[in-house]
Amino acid sequence: MSMHREMEARISRAADVYRPIGGWIERPSDPQPALEGEVSADVVIVGAGFAGLSTALELTARGAQVVVLEREFAGFGASGRNAGYLAGGQGLDYHLFMKRVGREQVSRIVRYFEDGVAYVEQKLDQYGIDCDYIRSGLIRAGVHASQQKVLRANMELGIELGAPARYLDEAEMRARGIPPAFLFGYATPGGGTLHPGKYVSGLRRAAIAAGVKLYESSPVRSFSEGATIACRTDRGVVHAPHLVLASNAYTPQLGLLRDKVAPLRVSAIETEPLSDAQIASLGWHGREGITTQHLVMESHRLTAHNSLVITTKRLDYAYGSSTPNIAAKPTYRDLAVALYERFPTLRDVSIRSSWSGYISFAYDGLPVVGATGDHRNIHYTAGCSGHGVGTQSFVGLLLAERIKGETHPYYAALQHKTPSTLPEPLQWVAIKSLLGGAHFMDERVNRRVRRNS
Ligand SMILES: Cc1cc2nc3c(=O)[nH]c(=O)nc-3n(C[C@H](O)[C@H](O)[C@H](O)COP(=O)(O)OP(=O)(O)OC[C@H]3O[C@@H](n4cnc5c(N)ncnc54)[C@H](O)[C@@H]3O)c2cc1C
Repeated sequence: MSMHREMEARISRAADVYRPIGGWIERPSDPQPALEGEVSADVVIVGAGFAGLSTALELTARGAQVVVLEREFAGFGASGRNAGYLAGGQGLDYHLFMKRVGREQVSRIVRYFEDGVAYVEQKLDQYGIDCDYIRSGLIRAGVHASQQKVLRANMELGIELGAPARYLDEAEMRARGIPPAFLFGYATPGGGTLHPGKYVSGLRRAAIAAGVKLYESSPVRSFSEGATIACRTDRGVVHAPHLVLASNAYTPQLGLLRDKVAPLRVSAIETEPLSDAQIASLGWHGREGITTQHLVMESHRLTAHNSLVITTKRLDYAYGSSTPNIAAKPTYRDLAVALYERFPTLRDVSIRSSWSGYISFAYDGLPVVGATGDHRNIHYTAGCSGHGVGTQSFVGLLLAERIKGETHPYYAALQHKTPSTLPEPLQWVAIKSLLGGAHFMDERVNRRVRRNS
């Protein structure tokens, strides 16, 4: 086969190695039972991702009887499929935030993202979760000179708002061993990368050990309102004075937050483990997770077993806020192209798996955390816009305190009026156009990079 055809075959392979449950996680070997019959609890939580499990753990620590209902298994959603960046407040959409809530509230929200990192680090220790966490810090990088001005301006605004970072010129990037495709950037000192499958499975283990009643294979079909809520699955019902919807991108399908958040599909590929020589060829000794300054970023990180995981680059939206668990083949192809272009020494490396998952976003980019219902006892958290490893864990503390009658200062900081989403088909047209425009602009940058190389 010619070099070109070999490369084409490798790129195409990305679509053939699709894993419907993501690359990090397997179905648990100790599946928890499906809900059967009637059960009572102090709090019923829908969804066993970072948010649902963290809320359950915080509530249990405060003496509450907690039931978690998960339609598949803990970690089936974005929590088991993400890139594993434990990131603070840098790289957020500050301009979008500020238009909505003003600078003072944005800086409190940025500090919430920052403190989410320390929260997760502390919980890893407390629950004894080994998830290959390396506190490497993270790097936001430019791949073309045209990205420098925006990258630097965003970094400076982030610093003013409370998210520390340090600019790295080309010499510093090379001195740190950052692969040469990434020309300049900034480093955030906090956070790093972890194995999200191990993290969410660790939370699941901790929750079961703490006495949380976790029911898996138990999709919630409906819930009632009232002083006591009835939360129904196919063969059971949980009665509780509080309900927490920790179902994130899937919440609109339960009839709530459809007017506040829209789900977006995010995709990933993982290579086969790299050989020692291939790792050495990268020179990337600090192993910092790297994201790029595109409108829709690329993210590139090494894992503890020396594979490379590349995510995002293309986002997608399915009509009617639906979340089909299907392959995004053209996106896997684009991610494979990014792999071979950014890391030319890895042109012989094959792709081992590809997958997709759903995040939710509000039109103002801000988290959507609050309570609704006549009794204000239907609590929700969503809209983390792809920054949920820290915040969707930390929100568990905020929700637990709220249910116990206290208001954490960060819970107060997150309260604001989320803009209403558009009805269909307008939302589909608007999001598709926006994403199409962003992808077009990003591809323009990529073409300029190709011309320079
Ligand atoms: C490819 C990808 C890469 C990402 N990379 C990063 C990253 O590097 N860093 C970062 O901070 N964030 C990242 N994110 C975002 C992050 O993963 C999410 O913000 C976070 O996991 C959300 O956690 P959650 O618990 O709110 O939701 P989820 O993990 O989605 O959990 C929701 C759960 O609810 C369950 N559920 C849904 N409907 C029902 C129902 N009717 N009944 C019962 N259960 C139900 C689902 O099965 C699911 O398990 C990424 C996301 C994706 C998809």
